[in-house]
Amino acid sequence: MNKQKQFGLSFEFFPPKTPEQKVILLDTQEKLRKLNPDFFSVTFGAGGSTITATAETVLELKTHETPKVIPHLSCMGGTPQEIEDLLNQYIQHGITDILALRGDVPSGMGSVGYFRYANELIEFIHEKYPNTFNITVGCYPEIHPETESFESEIKYFKQKVDAGVNRAITQFFFNPDAYFNYVDHCEKAGIDTPITPGIMPITNFSNIKRFCGFCGTDMPRWLQYKLQSYGDDRKSIQQFGTEFTIKLCQQLLDQGVPGIHFYTLNRAKATLDVVEALQ
Ligand code: FAD
Repeated sequence: MNKQKQFGLSFEFFPPKTPEQKVILLDTQEKLRKLNPDFFSVTFGAGGSTITATAETVLELKTHETPKVIPHLSCMGGTPQEIEDLLNQYIQHGITDILALRGDVPSGMGSVGYFRYANELIEFIHEKYPNTFNITVGCYPEIHPETESFESEIKYFKQKVDAGVNRAITQFFFNPDAYFNYVDHCEKAGIDTPITPGIMPITNFSNIKRFCGFCGTDMPRWLQYKLQSYGDDRKSIQQFGTEFTIKLCQQLLDQGVPGIHFYTLNRAKATLDVVEALQ
């Protein structure tokens, strides 16, 4: 039996911006692909990366015997024609999985895209390419920062799923109850798409706190104080962060989640340590 296939795994990368970052990503994917993941995914426009960077990174990864690679595509992807051009390019390379998002406006881009919400982008993709793409979407157990209420969160998520979705991946969270509560409400609302928890291993206090502020992720006070107590001792933060992430994933796996998606930030070590402990 392949011991590394006990639960579904996927790893998210962002397009490298420099030759040095590219070397790091290639090294990271090589280490992580040994864990036999179901897929890698590559972000779109996040953190100010250019629109062509995702496709370039996806195609580069595909030359390295990687697992399936899923490009993210956001409504910031330009005009419908530009989005079609990109999708045609993916089809030519045998890529028929997309992670479709509204997206965050990248710094310097200034305007929002042609489509207002992810569901409009999904409808467009299915209309232009019937029965072609498998669509994954994002979802928010702790409520997207722009959503006015928990009920609206579920309502808009359902609208997105009804547009034709195969899988959802959550924003990262630290509190497993938030995930279970959300999944429960989704089921009651008739949403039957698998909801994979998205997990960001803790490796650095200031960065993760900044991401939390941006993404609306709740960092429990005890966790903040604990991480703060290590000061500049990065080794201890990483050690504690890995132990915390292992426990979180174990709680999720014990309840039978469909898999785990890791926000790797293009680094292998923390994710490797967590997955190897779980296996
Ligand atoms: P939507 O589902 O469109 O929702 C956006 C907001 O609008 C929500 O507040 C929602 O409640 C509200 N809303 C939705 N529909 C309606 C409606 N009909 N009327 C009124 N309000 C509505 N960002 C990037 O830029 N690039 C990436 O590669 C990227 N990858 C991600 C991967 C995952 C797994 C996740 C969870 C997030 C990712 N993000 C990425 C972040 C994401 O783009 C942002 O969170 C963005 O603000 C919302 O995108 P969405 O597709 O979830 O939006």
